[in-house]
Amino acid sequence: MVNVIKQHDLGYPLMKVTLLGTGTSQGVPVIGCKCNVCLSEDHRDKRLRSSVFIEVNGVNVVVDTGPDFRTQMLRAGVESLDAILFTHEHKDHVAGLDDVRAFNQINGLAMQVWASHDVESALKRDFHYAFGESKHGGLPKILINQLGELEENIGITVGGIDVVLLPVMHGKIKVMGFRVGDFAYVTDVNYIPDSTFEKMVGVKVLVISALRKKRHPSHFTLDEVLSVVERINPVATYLTHLSHFIGKHEDLACELPEGVFVGFDGLVIENN
Ligand SMILES: [Zn+2]
Ligand SMILES: [Zn+2]
Repeated sequence: MVNVIKQHDLGYPLMKVTLLGTGTSQGVPVIGCKCNVCLSEDHRDKRLRSSVFIEVNGVNVVVDTGPDFRTQMLRAGVESLDAILFTHEHKDHVAGLDDVRAFNQINGLAMQVWASHDVESALKRDFHYAFGESKHGGLPKILINQLGELEENIGITVGGIDVVLLPVMHGKIKVMGFRVGDFAYVTDVNYIPDSTFEKMVGVKVLVISALRKKRHPSHFTLDEVLSVVERINPVATYLTHLSHFIGKHEDLACELPEGVFVGFDGLVIENN
């Protein structure tokens, strides 16, 4: 994988963000699809399911563990992971959690996971064997920390790093965005309340989902994303959670306003 490094002010001197996946729920290419995006040979048009890896002051955090989690950890060379933050319970964001076993085995510790009540219920349903009576060594070890109303208001501390919670709506379900320093990650969104906009004042680098141009019941259209970006006014914005309907990376890049870029798998943003 080709890593392209961009330098921006992220708020912490020792901070690095890697886009592990920038595709929508089916990924790109879509199985069996023969469209020009799915057949593209540009590596930037090959998108695993959306996730980011945040390294700050020696603390390693991943947001979401979709179906490609294992591949993403291997591809980015992640050797230690301190915590997982979950945005929401949809399968493209949680399905790969079983593979935390590798990290459990590295340090002998349960994985610290931050999840809303709804995400917790989904994890306990989908990965019931990890929460049962059996303490078999081969099972994933997961320790859930609640993201409730209190945490939404005052934020959380992950390995000593302050994380601001950015609740947004995705159709009828609530999704958590996260702000670390001057970096914010918001995916799967079609409504941002004013209280969350207020928490994004001063964000310099934004990664936000933009599924496609056509209306969707639970995602912003590209135009809606661009007006949200205008309101937040970061120095740089990278689009993620892209579907094949949005077109090829190189074509979309030409249509975006200044300061807004198409994200792609393997893109690294480092503090300047
Ligand atoms: Zn999604
Ligand atoms: Zn396609």
